[in-house]
Amino acid sequence: MIFLPEKFTERMKNVLGGEFDAFLKCYDLPPQRGIRINTLKMPLEKRESMPFELAPSPFAKDSFFLLSDDEKIGASPYHHAGAIYSQEPSASAAAAALRTQPSEIILDMCAAPGGKTTQIAAALQGKGLIWANEVISSRASVLISNVERMGIKNCIVSSARPDTLAENLPEYFDRVIVDAPCSGEGMFRKNPRAVEEWSPEHVSSCARRQAQIMESACRCLRPGGTLVYSTCTFSPEEDENLISEFLENHPDFYADAIDDIPAHKVPVGAGVAVKIYPTDGGEGHFVARLIRRGECEYGTSFAAVNDRTNTETRSFFDGIFSISPDVACKVIGENIYAVPKDFPDVRGCGVLRAGVLAGKIKGKRIEPSHALFMAYEPEMFKNTVDLTETPSVLSAFLRGEEIACDGKLKGYTAVVFDNMTIGFGKSSGGRLKNHYPKGLRSLN
Ligand code: SAM
Repeated sequence: MIFLPEKFTERMKNVLGGEFDAFLKCYDLPPQRGIRINTLKMPLEKRESMPFELAPSPFAKDSFFLLSDDEKIGASPYHHAGAIYSQEPSASAAAAALRTQPSEIILDMCAAPGGKTTQIAAALQGKGLIWANEVISSRASVLISNVERMGIKNCIVSSARPDTLAENLPEYFDRVIVDAPCSGEGMFRKNPRAVEEWSPEHVSSCARRQAQIMESACRCLRPGGTLVYSTCTFSPEEDENLISEFLENHPDFYADAIDDIPAHKVPVGAGVAVKIYPTDGGEGHFVARLIRRGECEYGTSFAAVNDRTNTETRSFFDGIFSISPDVACKVIGENIYAVPKDFPDVRGCGVLRAGVLAGKIKGKRIEPSHALFMAYEPEMFKNTVDLTETPSVLSAFLRGEEIACDGKLKGYTAVVFDNMTIGFGKSSGGRLKNHYPKGLRSLN
């Protein structure tokens, strides 16, 4: 039983009129749960082989309602392999509305924990750039972990204030998404804390912060570019009123109607945005798509990264891969990054990660990272151990245990599940020493 704040229900009654009773009844039902399939790792059709009951969601083609037990998701090898992301379906609508095409240059301004970033990365199909920014640095680590788990190679993760990005990267991006911090009214069924933290004052302070973020976000966008704004709240102050005011102050932007999401249409300026209520089958999301007037060629490349590939890094790659990835190496301190060759060489933007963390220099040797293995398909590695048909050995590997392997294998070895790399170890004398990261190990 959820005790909704009185001022919230009063406002919703005014906004929804005759639909209010149906809206209120939804709070007697359990929250919707869902997953998104990461097409960088697995084609959508393969969902049939997963042990979960799913139903397609109307909000994005890679999003599904989860009808079976939620708890099994995090422990599933499909989750460990980065093939799925737990996400309530209405939250998938915003990244879908961005309409990302491969090779474009995209900014996700408020990115942690990475739901939208990882969805946009799949739409990029490994080409172009997804720049994922999270101002709160402690939240950036979970973002990095999700980017790594989902095998994303073309991502920059930064922790910078939106105005810092606007100063350093003016008119740099083809598309920008602002999934703004909000009062979270769409989280009320899922998270009782969202109800406790709610107040009219909180709504107003969120709206002020959102307006500031939008001022910076719009400066990062090229003329002709697309800006998507989303929240998981229902308050007009944070949603349609905020966007209408933005459009009034920025005549170089107009609202582009979102007509392929089956939910409530709400006016913004002279256009329409969309609001998904629990009665529409989601927990709650608001999505507006704005276009900056002008012309631009989406996906035009930027200054190429400085390649620091040298004899040591080349032989490190040669020792691991049978098909070497076409990347540049960037050495920063003891870390080696495998970076797409057309990546920007950026400074001063709080960058924490660029491309894939390939390994760490430890004295005279280089130790590969989990992220390097997660980013590439099994067929690219010299050594592989396939545990698809041996679930108990796979579980032991995911718990961090040493496992038996072919005695002929020697050196770093990719561990494979259902045609996906799920981790790695080092094999020698018929044993595979486990390198599955401690923080990701499964407890059962
Ligand atoms: N896009 C994320 C996803 O799909 O997983 C969720 C983003 S969450 C709704 C909003 C994020 O904005 C939070 O991670 C929060 O830390 C961040 N944030 C908070 N204050 C901010 C500010 N002033 N500027 C930019 N981002 C902020």
